[in-house]
Amino acid sequence: MTNFKDTIIIGAGISGLVVAHNLKRMQPDHDFLLLEQDSGTGGVIKSFSDNGYLAECGPHGFLDNCGESRQLLADTGLEAECVRAPLKTFVRYVCINSKLMMIPQSPLKIISAPLISWPDKFRVLGDLFKKPLEGEPTVAKWADYRFGKALLPYVDAVFTGTYAGDFNELKIDAVMPGVRQLEKEHGSIIRGAIAKARQARKKKAQGEKLQMPSMTSFAGGMQRLPERLTELLGTGSLRLNTEAREIEKHESGWLVKTKNETFVAKNLVLGLPINQSLGLLAELDKTAADMRVPEAWIGTIVFGFEKASLPPGFGFLIPESEQRFSLGTLFSSNMFPNRAPDSHIVFETLVGGRRHPERLELDDKTLITEALADVKGLIDLPDTPDYTKILRPSGGIPQQEKGYTKLLNWRNTLVQNNPGLFVCGFGWEGIGLNDMIKTACSVAAQISANPSQHQDQADVKKVYF
Ligand SMILES: Cc1cc2nc3c(=O)[nH]c(=O)nc-3n(C[C@H](O)[C@H](O)[C@H](O)COP(=O)(O)OP(=O)(O)OC[C@H]3O[C@@H](n4cnc5c(N)ncnc54)[C@H](O)[C@@H]3O)c2cc1C
Repeated sequence: MTNFKDTIIIGAGISGLVVAHNLKRMQPDHDFLLLEQDSGTGGVIKSFSDNGYLAECGPHGFLDNCGESRQLLADTGLEAECVRAPLKTFVRYVCINSKLMMIPQSPLKIISAPLISWPDKFRVLGDLFKKPLEGEPTVAKWADYRFGKALLPYVDAVFTGTYAGDFNELKIDAVMPGVRQLEKEHGSIIRGAIAKARQARKKKAQGEKLQMPSMTSFAGGMQRLPERLTELLGTGSLRLNTEAREIEKHESGWLVKTKNETFVAKNLVLGLPINQSLGLLAELDKTAADMRVPEAWIGTIVFGFEKASLPPGFGFLIPESEQRFSLGTLFSSNMFPNRAPDSHIVFETLVGGRRHPERLELDDKTLITEALADVKGLIDLPDTPDYTKILRPSGGIPQQEKGYTKLLNWRNTLVQNNPGLFVCGFGWEGIGLNDMIKTACSVAAQISANPSQHQDQADVKKVYF
């Protein structure tokens, strides 16, 4: 049986859900169908609750500094359900020489903090005299060139915290295009940052409200976001347990084959992680199969303790040079209310990532023992936890390494040559929820504006989540 639709969207993670939500909002008559292979929506967004504890298998939150995400919260009525942890008041730590070093929240305080030695601080100023680095350097090579070796563990920690990645592999142009732009425009990151700060002061003087963003989630955890979007979709426009197995370009439109059905649509949206998109796109271009990107998989170990306390702040990150077992720990009960039973704390320790996938193969007992020993070496805790749980990942984080720019160019050419095809989702325009929401809004707007238009040439994302 063949079903005809205006638009088929493959994947009901946040990307596919936001495309669907916006299509419905902008064009109530638009006949679309969202196909999801799993029995539920949300993709890698999955909250876990048990015995009064609340933890996350995927994202813990998103920063409230993205217009599209704020609009989504307003449209869905979720604004009232948000819980927020302001960056202004929540410090982070980086583990250096087996000690937690607090990272202050303002640039001036960072300069005066004893994070690196004075000679190393002078070396950081070398940035003022360095020409932009040619080519497509890795993050590590670029940071070493501009600021010197002493900052590398801190830079490593940042990319462990966001990509669970290896900064010796991630490409600076792909993961921080905005910073690279500053380098090109101002000849130095420090000069660029000063120019930006001046602009911000001007805006403030003109009455514009400027404040540091907050990490945002919901009382019941991040899963509330896809749950609410699914509620608003209503029945009829979502098919669960339906894997899209093949796509084909056809005279009458885009053909999507599932196990039992074939759909034809004017527009086809892939809202999938890069590698899953490439699997389907190989039908259109055989070279897709050679473009797979590495992924970083993270396991989360949840620890609950009674009558214990955590240092203030969000938690800590650990650079690879420390040679420890875990990637870092989130102080979950500090960040958001009601994450643990009364008089208990909860924290989530992250393991694996791009560098240590083998650790996810360990049995539960070993994972818990190793992770706990790691944390106890850094913060004071009672001997035995009251609660432990391992959350194994359902998806990996696509890594923007060698070949990523070529991959984006290939995708852009493909969508240019195939009107009605839209390729968005995890890893294409960044990896954060704000990136996904922003791109999904743009895809829905393009379809609504002209139902057979092709996707805008998307450049590498400009904003880091
Ligand atoms: C462990 C982890 C922690 C993270 N932490 C943060 C964070 O703190 N803050 C932040 O902003 N971001 C974070 N992220 C990133 C964020 O979660 C992602 O950007 C976002 O959830 C990706 O959404 P998506 O819809 O593009 O992809 P996905 O969530 O992967 O959804 C894709 C969907 O498509 C379905 N699908 C796949 N193939 C098919 C097919 N052939 N047919 C039908 N359906 C199919 C899948 O089942 C899935 O439901 C984290 C990610 C991970 C993995």
